[in-house]
Amino acid sequence: MVVVMKPKTEEIHIQALVAHLEALGVSVSITNGIGCSILGLVGDTTNLDMDKISINPYVERVMRVQEAYKKANRKFHPQDTVVEVAGAKIGGGHFAVMAGPCSVETKEQIVEVAEAVQASGAKLLRGGAFKPRTSPYSFQGMGVDGLDLMLEAKAKTGLPVVSEIMSPKLVEIFEEKVDVVQIGARNMQNFDLLKEVGKMSKPILLKRGLANSYEEWIMSAEYIMSEGNENVILCERGIRTFETYTRNTLDISAIPAVKRMSHLPIIVDPSHAAGMSWMVEPLALAAITAGADGLIIEVHNNPACAKCDGQQSLTPAQFDGLMKKAAALVDLAGKTM
Ligand code: PEP
Ligand code: MN
Repeated sequence: MVVVMKPKTEEIHIQALVAHLEALGVSVSITNGIGCSILGLVGDTTNLDMDKISINPYVERVMRVQEAYKKANRKFHPQDTVVEVAGAKIGGGHFAVMAGPCSVETKEQIVEVAEAVQASGAKLLRGGAFKPRTSPYSFQGMGVDGLDLMLEAKAKTGLPVVSEIMSPKLVEIFEEKVDVVQIGARNMQNFDLLKEVGKMSKPILLKRGLANSYEEWIMSAEYIMSEGNENVILCERGIRTFETYTRNTLDISAIPAVKRMSHLPIIVDPSHAAGMSWMVEPLALAAITAGADGLIIEVHNNPACAKCDGQQSLTPAQFDGLMKKAAALVDLAGKTM
């Protein structure tokens, strides 16, 4: 349920209503919008009488929220959420690009890529240290050593680092070493993991599952938010369809649809959607045009020798070309990068 307060209602009257509602057994989150405040009621609201709440002279209107997601719902929080990471902003008119290799391999590799993507305008460095591989015989990532190499690249460039967590056991290490914690597509419905990262202080990059609906995806964001961490960035990375030409099918519709459903920022990963480096640029540009708040792109200094996902990785020069075109479109969209 959402309670919209009348414009310019004084704090004392808002707090009195919040106390009354909490006494009825629901928790209340307050969003101060432009001109008015909105109370989002979470919990069992079935026995709340909408008419009685409407009688309050400071209440403009009361609405039932049919959707199962509450904190992530745009009805609870009409303005776009802006997630801030070490000065970089994502959402609400702020566009940011995360770039780097699929997996961290050596100090030289990660530092060289970090310096290159930064020079082209990336604001965050991505790199996998714990890799969710289809085969147990494939390279599984460098683990904590990989995170430490990312921190060396961060020390040189100042770029905050994004890396995927696969186990609740790693929460403490990620809290210490990583700036944005990625939940990969394969773990989007790992509810124990979602609850644990929901207790972290770091923003969470929540990738869409390989075969999950918008609602299921936003419900996973709700898991994280319900534990207290409201800094969630959604990431469309392509879904399974009958088409086998591409690695996945980039679902461009997800961008406007999710923006209508939720206030959370949404970025796009064209690399894992395409699975081929030559297709990354057109998909990235399409994502910006459809309203994405950012991109996450795989870049490798030597794609042919990459330990993971070389076929879809851009060279630093290709990435630079993409960024020049992206900047023009971001500008056209009236956003800042
Ligand atoms: C990745 O970002 O390297 C990755 C494994 O992505 P996804 O979870 O989208 O497959
Ligand atoms: Mn990858």
